[in-house]
Amino acid sequence: GEGGGDGETYTVGIDTTYPPFEFEDSNGDYKGIDVDLITAIADSQGFEITLEPMDFGGIIPALQAGQLDVAIAGMSITDERKEVVDFSDPYFEAGLTLVAQQENNDIEALEDLDGKTVVVKSGTTGAKFAQDNQDEYGFEVTVLEDSPSMFQEVSNGNADVLIEDYPVIAYAIAESNLDLKIVGDRLNGDNYGIAVLKGENADLLEKINAGLQELKDSGEYDEILNTYISE
Ligand code: GLN
Repeated sequence: GEGGGDGETYTVGIDTTYPPFEFEDSNGDYKGIDVDLITAIADSQGFEITLEPMDFGGIIPALQAGQLDVAIAGMSITDERKEVVDFSDPYFEAGLTLVAQQENNDIEALEDLDGKTVVVKSGTTGAKFAQDNQDEYGFEVTVLEDSPSMFQEVSNGNADVLIEDYPVIAYAIAESNLDLKIVGDRLNGDNYGIAVLKGENADLLEKINAGLQELKDSGEYDEILNTYISE
């Protein structure tokens, strides 16, 4: 760090397994875009972090309970969440897509989901999207706790489609031998932000934004992204 920081240690919630944003490498170390970004931000602003992996659905409740100071978890900035957390400046563009088994040629769009089963992850924008649209399009929703379980549920044929952030599923399909494919158009667009508990962390949020801006200006932000994602 550059010194002059508060020297505090902040507990940072991350999604248990969400490559390329967070994952555990073969040495048991947490890696990924989010991990590298928050580590570099902490370094630039002179604070320490402790990473706390958990199911995504537990992250905002843990912030509210005071068990986490910060969350960086591929978390989309939404108006609903802004009622309970404050977000940093946006740091990554994402959005939702439908995903089906490779050999499934029946599903191209929401209109094809009548009577089908859709898997989502608890507490996510994907879960909310599914719940908001299930009556109109006539599908059933199954809620699971993590992304690998969702992927498995569709690849083994227990569910017809899943809803996931497209950078995450594109990475998973490219890196692992998943029997899955992205289908149809993107369902929406959004931006990831770093979250702190609303109204109580203005100084910390200011540091996070300053650190993020510094990484963008220095080129380190692009380097981190390029480490995990090839354009
Ligand atoms: N971006 C999505 C959300 O904010 C999914 C995040 C995740 O699964 N880690 O809900």
